[in-house]
Amino acid sequence: MKILIIGGGPAGATAARLLADSFDVTLIQDRDWDKPCGGGTKSKIFDEYSIPKEIIKHVLDYVIIQYKGKKTKIDLKGKNLSIVIREEFDKTLRDLAQKKGVKLIYGKFKGFEDKKAIVNINGEKILFDYDILIAADGVNSSVRKSAGVAEVPKIITHYARIKEYRVNTCEFFFDKELGGDYYAWAFPHENKTHIGSVGESFSSLCNYLGVNVKPKGYFIPTWQENIQMQKENIFFVGDAAGHVMPLSFEGIYYAIKSAEILAYSIKNGLDYTNEWNKRFLKEFKFMKRLEGMMKKTLLRNIMIKAQNINKIQSISVDMWLGKFRV
Ligand SMILES: Cc1cc2nc3c(=O)[nH]c(=O)nc-3n(C[C@H](O)[C@H](O)[C@H](O)COP(=O)(O)OP(=O)(O)OC[C@H]3O[C@@H](n4cnc5c(N)ncnc54)[C@H](O)[C@@H]3O)c2cc1C
Repeated sequence: MKILIIGGGPAGATAARLLADSFDVTLIQDRDWDKPCGGGTKSKIFDEYSIPKEIIKHVLDYVIIQYKGKKTKIDLKGKNLSIVIREEFDKTLRDLAQKKGVKLIYGKFKGFEDKKAIVNINGEKILFDYDILIAADGVNSSVRKSAGVAEVPKIITHYARIKEYRVNTCEFFFDKELGGDYYAWAFPHENKTHIGSVGESFSSLCNYLGVNVKPKGYFIPTWQENIQMQKENIFFVGDAAGHVMPLSFEGIYYAIKSAEILAYSIKNGLDYTNEWNKRFLKEFKFMKRLEGMMKKTLLRNIMIKAQNINKIQSISVDMWLGKFRV
């Protein structure tokens, strides 16, 4: 059976790697690039997916939450957060897939013709046939558009890489004027800091940090229940299916995990949407509810201040680590 995967980010490269032992897998990636991202991900994925740890740039055992002039240290109970450079991380995942026998082709998916995928390779139009097509082509998925499937809901984020403001760990800014309805962030990156905000508050963040920088914009999915994950023999995964955790906006881990669920479902003839829902629906719905509560000032106050209570902070971290599920 031929499987064609469009997009070789964390979702596509992982799906390719996990399917390669059973199928003829071709992975189409448009380019090597540093995808806009904080690059923060749960450290456990390196062991779970045998990803070489040499590419980790920082391993962090705490993060800082800033709110109303107060900094709260969140103890992550070990070195559980890793920072990677996306260009290197994504390329490593594609290399791992290739080692398993995946054919990696650099080209850009352009649409469909006679039930085949059109891929532009060095200016030449090539048609690829497939039994299954996996769309892992990110938040702006052109496969979704070409297949006539509704786009994933999304929000603009602004981000920049700066040298002026240095951090030792990830800092999250929860004041409304800095992070809007969500949050703003500053993550350490070797000799730079990546800063960003979800929504439209980037200039206030810059004022607060005392830097003057022009941001770049990029979308991030805002997950909702019932985002379509399959149309006939086309499956959507990662950002292309909106698989970003509400409130935390963590996407790398969930792209990889969702790719694993998809690979497992295809191999075992199971319903992918069903399998994904069994594993993640409750958790995503719970976080979506918290995200909604955080939009209300009073509840935001209560929820963030509660992180100063050891027991509540410990439960939040355990939830993030997946030590218990809702
Ligand atoms: C500013 C910002 C900061 C973020 N910070 C974090 C963070 O710190 N931690 C975290 O966990 N998540 C973060 N995220 C979310 C995270 O980046 C995504 O959820 C994650 O990259 C999703 O992986 P993916 O493989 O589904 O999609 P992508 O990483 O987007 O990969 C899709 C790939 O497909 C390729 N592609 C697209 N179209 C085509 C085409 N037509 N043909 C061929 N190839 C194509 C793209 O080049 C891309 O490499 C952040 C997002 C943003 C915007």
